[in-house]
Amino acid sequence: MSRIWAPWRASYLQSADTKRDHGCFLCAGLESDQDRENHVVLRRAHSFVVLNRYPYNNGHLLVAPRSHVGSLGELEGAELTEPVETIQSMIGTLDRLLGPQGYNVGLNQGRSAGAGLPGHLHWHVVPRWDGDTNFMPILGNAKVIVESLNEFYDRLREELDRSSGI
Ligand SMILES: [Zn+2]
Repeated sequence: MSRIWAPWRASYLQSADTKRDHGCFLCAGLESDQDRENHVVLRRAHSFVVLNRYPYNNGHLLVAPRSHVGSLGELEGAELTEPVETIQSMIGTLDRLLGPQGYNVGLNQGRSAGAGLPGHLHWHVVPRWDGDTNFMPILGNAKVIVESLNEFYDRLREELDRSSGI
C-alpha cells in the first residue's frame, strides 16, 4: 500500500505551489473563486473535492472536510460523515466517466503516515485498472500533466452537471 503513494508524495513535497499557498492548497482553493484553475471539482456544505495535482493514476481525487483540521478526532457530525458520502458519490461519477475496475480510497493522518499536507485531512480516491502502472512516468512532464488535469476537470464537471452533481 505505501508503495503506491510514494511517487505522488515525492512530487508533492517538491512543489513550489505549496510554499506559495503557505502550506494549505486546500484552504487556498476553497477561499479562491477560481475553481477551474485550482481544480476544485465540487463544493458541498461540509466537504469539497479537488483533483490531485500529482496524480498517481488517471482520475485521482482528493476529498476533504472544509475545516482545516489534521485528525479525524477533530471532526464531528456532518463534517465527519459528509466526506464519506462525497467519496461514495464521486466513485459513482468516476465509474460512469472512466469505468475503473477498482479504487484505492485512503486517508493519511500525520506526516509519519505519509500525509503530504498534514494540517488538512483529506482522503485520496484513486481509480485502478487491472495491470495499471504508475501514471507519472507515462505522462513524462509537469506541463503534460497540467493539460491532462484541465481536460479531465472539464470532463468531470460536465458529468457532474449532467447528473445534477450530488
Ligand atoms: Zn486547510
